[in-house]
Amino acid sequence: MNIYSPCQTCSEELQAKTTCDTRGEHAMRKGETITLKCFSCNTQNTTHIDDFKARESSFIKMFALISFLVTLLIAVGALLWMLFTEGVTVVWYGILTIPFLIYGSLLGYDRNRVRIFNRLYAKR
Ligand SMILES: [Zn+2]
Repeated sequence: MNIYSPCQTCSEELQAKTTCDTRGEHAMRKGETITLKCFSCNTQNTTHIDDFKARESSFIKMFALISFLVTLLIAVGALLWMLFTEGVTVVWYGILTIPFLIYGSLLGYDRNRVRIFNRLYAKR
């Protein structure tokens, strides 16, 4: 997940990546500070993990939206096909809830890990 913090010299936003879900986990595994070079003022920043903030991923949002549309299309297609062939079975209406479930759970997953990261501190 991408985490962000402002440059200590020019306040330009610096971006880092972490594979950990919490600041504490990151501090334990990768150390408490991250050293990043600012591209606008060329300063080397050593920033504590507690000063980083996570943000919801636009990639997951996009992915959630695409899988929502694709599964919705399949579900509607299957439903129409059933309607015009052998009459309606209630089971097929259940398929319509799948796109909503996938979309909702993907967004929920991302929001949740961002919330957890931003809430817990490594305690310097
Ligand atoms: Zn800078």
